[in-house]
Amino acid sequence: MDYVFAPPPVPSLPVQGSSARFPVRRIFCVGRNYAEHAREMGADTREPPFFFTKPADALVMDGAVLPWPQATADLHHEAELVVAIGAPGRNLTPDQAAALVWGHAPGIDLTRRDMQAEAKQMRRPWDMSKGFDQSAPCGALVPVSVTGPVMAGRIACTVGGDIRQDGDIADMIWDVPHIIAHLSGLVDLAPGDLIFTGTPAGVGPILPGETCRVEIAGLGAVQVRIG
Ligand code: MN
Repeated sequence: MDYVFAPPPVPSLPVQGSSARFPVRRIFCVGRNYAEHAREMGADTREPPFFFTKPADALVMDGAVLPWPQATADLHHEAELVVAIGAPGRNLTPDQAAALVWGHAPGIDLTRRDMQAEAKQMRRPWDMSKGFDQSAPCGALVPVSVTGPVMAGRIACTVGGDIRQDGDIADMIWDVPHIIAHLSGLVDLAPGDLIFTGTPAGVGPILPGETCRVEIAGLGAVQVRIG
C-alpha cells in the first residue's frame, strides 16, 4: 500500500505476563454505571446503559506524565474497570457477550468536567469533554484466562495518596456481560475494542503536579501524574 505519509502507529496495551501487546481498535465508555455516582451527578439510576467514545490514540500508558489538557480548569478522575474484547459479536445475549471478553485492566476516564457540564446544559455532544488527547490512561491487560470473569472486587482511586473513590465492581448497575450485550445491539463489536465500564462515586479534580492512581483487586494499578 502506498500512503501519502506514514500511517500512524496502531494504539496498543501491554499484557501482563506477555511480551505481546493487545492492538486497540475503538474505545467505548459507559456513562453512569454505579448508582451512587449516578446520584452524585443528579441522574436516574434505572435507565439502560448509554455509551460515548474516545479515540484509540487517547490511550496513555501506566507511569506517564501528562501535560495539563487544553481548554479546562476542572480535570476530573473517574476510576474504571476496562474490558478488552477479543472476538466479534453482534446483537448478543449477556451469556453470549461474556464469551467476547479477552481481558481486563484498571483505567481512568479523564474528564474535562467544566466542559462536560456546559455540554449537558447546551445539549451538545460530549466528544470534546471526554475524548480529548491523552484522556484514557489504562494499565496492563490481565487475560480473562488468568482471572476468570471480573464481577466483583475493590476499585479504588487515590490522588496524592488520599483515597477519593472506593467502590466495588459488584455495585455496577449493568455488569460486564450486560454492557457488552447492550453495546453489541448498537455496533458490531470486534477484537481490539475496549470498554470503559463506568465509575463509582467520589469523582473529583486532579490538580497540576498531582498523581492519580487507580487500583482494582486482582488487576493491578494504573498511575499517571499531571505535569
Ligand atoms: Mn466514566
